[in-house]
Amino acid sequence: LPTVAIVGRPNVGKSTLFNRLVGKKLALVDDRPGVTRDRREGDAHLLGLEFRVIDTAGYEDEDPQSLPGRMRKQTEAAVAEADVALFLIDAREGVSPLDAEIARWLRSSKTPIVLVANKAESRASQPGVLDAYRLGLGDPVAMSAEHGEGVADLFESLRPHVEREELDEPEEEEGEEGGPLKIAIVGRPNAGKSTLVNRMLGEERMITGPEAGITRDSIALDWEWQGRKVRLVDTAGMRKRAKVTDKLEWLSTADAKKSIDLAEVVVLLLDATRGLEVQDLRIASSVIDEGRALIIAINKWDVADNASSLFNGIKAALEEGLAQIKGIPVLTVSAKTGKGIDQLLSAAFELREQWSRRVSTGALNRWFEAAVDANPPPAPGGKRIKLRYITQVKTRPPTFVVFGTRTTELPESYRRYLVNSMRRDLGLGPVPVRFTLRSPKN
Ligand code: GDP
Repeated sequence: LPTVAIVGRPNVGKSTLFNRLVGKKLALVDDRPGVTRDRREGDAHLLGLEFRVIDTAGYEDEDPQSLPGRMRKQTEAAVAEADVALFLIDAREGVSPLDAEIARWLRSSKTPIVLVANKAESRASQPGVLDAYRLGLGDPVAMSAEHGEGVADLFESLRPHVEREELDEPEEEEGEEGGPLKIAIVGRPNAGKSTLVNRMLGEERMITGPEAGITRDSIALDWEWQGRKVRLVDTAGMRKRAKVTDKLEWLSTADAKKSIDLAEVVVLLLDATRGLEVQDLRIASSVIDEGRALIIAINKWDVADNASSLFNGIKAALEEGLAQIKGIPVLTVSAKTGKGIDQLLSAAFELREQWSRRVSTGALNRWFEAAVDANPPPAPGGKRIKLRYITQVKTRPPTFVVFGTRTTELPESYRRYLVNSMRRDLGLGPVPVRFTLRSPKN
């Protein structure tokens, strides 16, 4: 994790900010002797950003005579180790001589510094915030660690420094062209999962048959399809258990959850001779809730009666039952003859690409402004809800945070409007999109 150090003279609110960032998790006390004594560390979460935070408070009870010297060591050690430092001043008091001195140490440091004018919850702190500019450390973030104000601004200032790690995640790189497509095939017993896998592999690696409960292999299979790597991440246990315990909720098995969790794209296999059942919808919903890309494949199409009305019926029931996402791909396959399998894999690769997509900041904000302009948020009680800006905090699945005021009052229908219009305008396709609204006060 990237590391953020919190520095500043005593009483500017370092520990309060630390506690806000780390939340309920207990801070560790590092008791190595010397400069790092008394410092606290913890894992912080800030609107989707994750980082390690070091609080350099702890010298506040020291002899004030020796304070600057010891503080300097403490501060410099923490800053040197960090990817970015938050330098706090007390906006109510403005810049003190000790603040100015710390700023001098910090200006010569190679670590980027984010200046924070804390305790800025009231108008009376405004002059102190302006005063902070003269420290020569750029624009101060005006916030109140105690009241949770200005957190969105802090996020924006920290983000360029701590997000890098997330972008470099090896997992994310795997989502690019070269990594294997991790696919899970789920569905009720006898839908034809094993047969489909056999067909994809083109060899009898798994045992299938008309009897339930016959699959024995453990399943973690790699193969290539049209020169691209595919990895099946189903667990065999899931199938066995599902087959032998008919009454047991299939989806409640840990194996089913694990398969979905391991996959990038989940294929829900239906049986054309049985149609869509309630449990299929439940499985589909949980795949979406887990944030995985979903494809529906109707198997045994070779023996389907009345094919077009069957297809339309299933498609309509899915649109109604899975209102969260419109346009989830529905394909027909025959595991037995192999028909439709190329289309299935090609759709899976395309979904994986959408699921891994990072939208450029420019495109995202242009879309956001246009969407809010075309259909402004409502004004409950005569006061308009303001949506200020949007940022993509993650991919796989694409995850966005919208900042604004009074966002908790925004109706679900408006949120859905934004998600659907984003999906359409930014080419995200029918993959799950996580979309959170935040007001500065959290
Ligand atoms: P699983 O429980 O989902 O793994 O299902 P299996 O792969 O064991 O298949 C169950 C039964 O359906 C077997 O008798 C298969 O031969 C049959 N089956 C699977 N796919 C097809 C298909 O595409 N067409 C037809 N006609 N039968 C299939």
